[in-house]
Amino acid sequence: MPAEAPGSRRSRTSTWRSSKSKSGCPCSRFVLVKFAYYKRLSAKQKATYRKSDAVDSVKVPDAAELSPLVVELEASLANGKRLATAKAASALLLALCRQLGVPAARVTVRTVRPEISGGVLHGLYTYAKNGADPTIEVWMKTAAHERVVRFRTFLRTLLHEVMHHLDVTLLGLEDSFHTEGFFKRESSLVRQLVARPRARTKTAQVETRRPVQLVLFETGPTRGLAKS
Ligand SMILES: [Zn+2]
Repeated sequence: MPAEAPGSRRSRTSTWRSSKSKSGCPCSRFVLVKFAYYKRLSAKQKATYRKSDAVDSVKVPDAAELSPLVVELEASLANGKRLATAKAASALLLALCRQLGVPAARVTVRTVRPEISGGVLHGLYTYAKNGADPTIEVWMKTAAHERVVRFRTFLRTLLHEVMHHLDVTLLGLEDSFHTEGFFKRESSLVRQLVARPRARTKTAQVETRRPVQLVLFETGPTRGLAKS
């Protein structure tokens, strides 16, 4: 969530959605100014914030190599199998981190999203601390009906937490703030890992009826903002 309290370095950072919001993704709350909590940060934190805000994308060296892992993750989630989903998510993160040359985080997939003050927790990143590995937790079922979430929602949440991890390990930031640059980087990761469908021609529409590929952000407000 964007509104982190200023002060000492946080040990955890989370993704949540307001139960009153229909937005469904943090990018829908984009604004083209610094987030309101900026003014409450210390000078050092503001410097970190500005560094974060200045980076628009993270280039995945070989996104095509990761494609089968994304497909596996989607299939595992569709089956509603928590352990299989966790295994697939871990494999994807491990391969991505290997390409980027950074250590991976441990991934835990949990079932029903817990309700927290003001919303529902979707994901959580815990920094490495006292020799313990950094961890990513992602929830796979809605709080309201305990249904498995849509794949694109799950993947975006996972990559959101991955972005927190990369802020520290790849970009070398002191902390990982929710900045406009952060959400652009998150979007850049999603776009690289999920193929967009090719434009359908008139001929193709007549001759074939292919399964529709997964599409993220067809109409999302962040489309076109990030460089990838
Ligand atoms: Zn976050």
